[in-house]
Amino acid sequence: MIRQPIIVVMGHVDHGKTSLLDRIRSTAITSREAGGITQHIGASEIPISIIEKTCGDLLKKFGAAITLPGLLFIDTPGHEAFTNLRKRGGSVADLAILVVDVSKSFEPQTYEAIEILKGYKTPFIVAANKIDLLTGWQRADTKSFTESIATQNQRVQDELDAKLYGLVGKLSECGFGSERFDRVKDFKKEVIIVPISAKTGEGVAELLMYATGLSQKFLEMRLNIEVNGAGIGSIIERKEEKGLGATVDVILYNGTLKVNDTVAFATPNGIGRAKIKALLKPKQLQELRESSSKFYYVESVSAAAGIKISGSGFDDALSGSLLISTDVPNYENEIKTEIQEVFTTDKKGLILKADTIGTMEALSKLLKNINAGISRKGIGNVTKGDVLDAFAMRSVDPYGAVVLSFGVKVEEDAAAEAYAAGVTVIQSDIIYKLIDDYKEWLEKEKKRDRDAVEKALMFPGEIRILPNSCFRVSHPAIFGIEVTK
Ligand code: GDP
Repeated sequence: MIRQPIIVVMGHVDHGKTSLLDRIRSTAITSREAGGITQHIGASEIPISIIEKTCGDLLKKFGAAITLPGLLFIDTPGHEAFTNLRKRGGSVADLAILVVDVSKSFEPQTYEAIEILKGYKTPFIVAANKIDLLTGWQRADTKSFTESIATQNQRVQDELDAKLYGLVGKLSECGFGSERFDRVKDFKKEVIIVPISAKTGEGVAELLMYATGLSQKFLEMRLNIEVNGAGIGSIIERKEEKGLGATVDVILYNGTLKVNDTVAFATPNGIGRAKIKALLKPKQLQELRESSSKFYYVESVSAAAGIKISGSGFDDALSGSLLISTDVPNYENEIKTEIQEVFTTDKKGLILKADTIGTMEALSKLLKNINAGISRKGIGNVTKGDVLDAFAMRSVDPYGAVVLSFGVKVEEDAAAEAYAAGVTVIQSDIIYKLIDDYKEWLEKEKKRDRDAVEKALMFPGEIRILPNSCFRVSHPAIFGIEVTK
């Protein structure tokens, strides 16, 4: 059987990620079809019937028969959420939508998103958002860009094209060929750009259509699942729930999980195991009003799905970890290899503390791209020990004498120690900011060292070329001098 592709929305802050997800969900809800949208834990499923209805004949263009049951959109947009959707050698996300404000073009997090997507080899579509803000744009009452653009005057069409070519240029700098969707010749080689307005809905039909068509045509192999196989998923979050204790929110991407199955996952101390006591799905809005509990219970769940799992043993499960049924042969190896891969370190370099396996992996990749070594990695708060390690690193690698902390706290005695030892701790909850701050620190340190070297030199000097003592005038010039200062 073929499952729904798992789709994430990424892009720079304020470019419209949340608005786009809301627009897609409301499109599904207002289509007034029974079961218009299925709410999962951490994800929303748009069934294929809604997509077919929204897209009309557009889907036929692909020439491939659509057998996908629908699209599963991850509810939390952004890079940090993406990083926890991880599996060995790639991402759980099958496809990404990169939202770019068409007037603002690329901004720092746009570049970062592309770098992350490249790192995970995740294909993506660009949604060129906020077309309704172009001067002279006349809002058309349609979800179709093709229909809307036909009603716009030539000047607006030209302006849009100019903006889109700006995007094509930026994508080319990042190593991707791209085109507006209706001008793409080879879907395998070019990134598709769909102009949209998350506000008015124009273009959402084409966006859904290409997400569906491309998944069907190019990802079918990846989407093949053994429905009755043992369940495999990714932990997106661990959460305390009233009356349930520690639970994990999981995106299941293969097989089936059942109540009483035992699952394994990564913890700070190696492999953790838990028996599934309950599988929970969120209640739909109208049901929520009638009951005190947010969830309802199911006996089993099949991929792809977002599900909350309760059971004893999840207390120290790590977000971003694989969650795998112990019925999978070699499941222990799978987890061990995963931990080893994420936590490999270099002999020299900085200390990295992060909140989840996912952010740890993404940061490791980005730091590797800028040739920064990492001598120690850990999930959890920055401790005094981390600071002392950074201090000790100073004699080996002065540029490694720093602690990078993502999404975790610096413990009080660690902060005091850092102050006393003069160790820098760089903290952020935004991936690109942490990397940028580190780069800035590094530049400052290097400049300080350069300045110190220059200070020790006699600099500059002054010479006088002696008259009548030139033996060659060039290649190389040879002549006598007198040092005057
Ligand atoms: P996010 O930070 O990427 O999730 O961005 P949001 O979805 O929160 O959007 C940022 C701002 O842009 C909000 O004020 C939105 O209302 C606005 N916005 C988003 N999409 C559009 C659009 O297509 N047209 C217009 N005019 N405004 C938009």
